[in-house]
Amino acid sequence: MTVSAMIRTGQVLLAIVAAGQMFAAEAPPTRPNIIFVFADDHATHAISAYGSRINSTPNIDRLAREGMLFRNCFVTNSICAPSRAVILTGKHSHLNGVLTNSEPFDINQQTFVHLLKQAGYQTAIVGKWHLQSDPVMFDYWRVLIGQGPYYNPRFRTPQGVITIEGYTTDVITDLVLEWLEKHRDRSRPFFLAYHHKAPHREWLPGPKQLNLYKDTFIPEPTTLFDDYRGRTSAAAKTTMTIANHMTDLDLKFTLPKNLTEKQRQMIEEAYRKENQAFRAAGLQGEELVRWKYQRYIKDYLRCVAAIDDNLGRVLEYLDRTGLAQNTVVIYSSDQGFFLGDHGWYDKRWMYEESLRMPLIVRWPGVVSPGSVNWDLVQNLDFAPTFLEIAGVPLPAEMQGRSLVPLLRGQRPADWRQSIYYRYYEYPAVHDVQRHEGVRTARYKLIHYYLINEWELFDLEKDPDELRSVYDDPAYADVKRELLAELERLRKVYGVDKAQEPPVRGSGE
Ligand code: CA
Repeated sequence: MTVSAMIRTGQVLLAIVAAGQMFAAEAPPTRPNIIFVFADDHATHAISAYGSRINSTPNIDRLAREGMLFRNCFVTNSICAPSRAVILTGKHSHLNGVLTNSEPFDINQQTFVHLLKQAGYQTAIVGKWHLQSDPVMFDYWRVLIGQGPYYNPRFRTPQGVITIEGYTTDVITDLVLEWLEKHRDRSRPFFLAYHHKAPHREWLPGPKQLNLYKDTFIPEPTTLFDDYRGRTSAAAKTTMTIANHMTDLDLKFTLPKNLTEKQRQMIEEAYRKENQAFRAAGLQGEELVRWKYQRYIKDYLRCVAAIDDNLGRVLEYLDRTGLAQNTVVIYSSDQGFFLGDHGWYDKRWMYEESLRMPLIVRWPGVVSPGSVNWDLVQNLDFAPTFLEIAGVPLPAEMQGRSLVPLLRGQRPADWRQSIYYRYYEYPAVHDVQRHEGVRTARYKLIHYYLINEWELFDLEKDPDELRSVYDDPAYADVKRELLAELERLRKVYGVDKAQEPPVRGSGE
């Protein structure tokens, strides 16, 4: 290197150091920060980065453009509390103890949060928690009580319950920004769980989104009028149809009781004309279902729009403070959701719309911007991934695998070829039969084991899962292989030795 080149290099280095000092007084921790943005019931087909036909999510899309989008991320048990317990422990439901929404999470079991904390990370959670026990393993916590309302949320905190007036998605974000700005210890890396209540039922929009999609027709899913033929008896008996099982609260004919008078008037005004027209029209049959679908999906998408707007606020803060450079930002949701698909709302099923989770990871300098991954990954893998990002050794008891090699663009040769699924909450709200199953890149086998009925789908030929080929002789070999694979996975995960939980009802 010539002398002049060395001088130029030195000048560049000095300039970089000076710029760093201008942005922040703190020395950035070398280990990355992690912000885990987690929505509730946000289906991939309501994210434009995943090809949504019905909405646009510019800030979530920005994460995908600057990071990696996982095309095949699947939940192990498609319901709120169980998905969260799997994420905390890296273990399937029968081992972490949260099989349905009824069991409280045993706070004394090991979670990735304990391990990050031991390794010197500061840990914070703001928003939905939904695991009954207090999240005492976090250094800082402000969590909604149960599901939490859409307006004027109450939070459990180490200092007792606090109530904050406002729209919950905005309020949670305000608390997140306040923690980042005022409460964190700037000498240590952090893990921040930024967890929304939205877009969970009953989909009440925020002040800024109340009139979004007004006079817009949202395209209907092709299976809105599914007749449930071609499958077992389970699908037809479920009680989650848009046609028959939506409440007045879901449809905004009544409003929650905890609104202020001003909020109530604002929301009533937004729906007034449409409700009057609906009452005058006297719709019946398919027209009535179509109307309900429009009401439902618009409110759902309005709730999603508030999440996306607020994510934009956080990304802007990270940019402005220079934190973005050393912070991994992850977007996901506890499961998928039926957006009128099969005539339904809700989740629980191993069917695609409910099984799929969004997963987008932005990790500057590590993840190649705009990359897409097609490997089979699960929420079971989140805890090992958080730990490996932080450089913490993985405990053997965790059943998931770290996604860090995939994030680096290096697929391990022995990556999984199938996933195991198990849903337990029956009998219960929505009447979805208990089931377990296996999904490979192309096929899906489901066993409704209390009634001993089976379904097998060829996802390549039948992506909407309308015709089970379980009894089709052409699929005899596929069936045999999947039955063997299901047995193998039951052994791998220790399900074969687990006790079937008692039959009892529970909430959503
Ligand atoms: Ca959920």
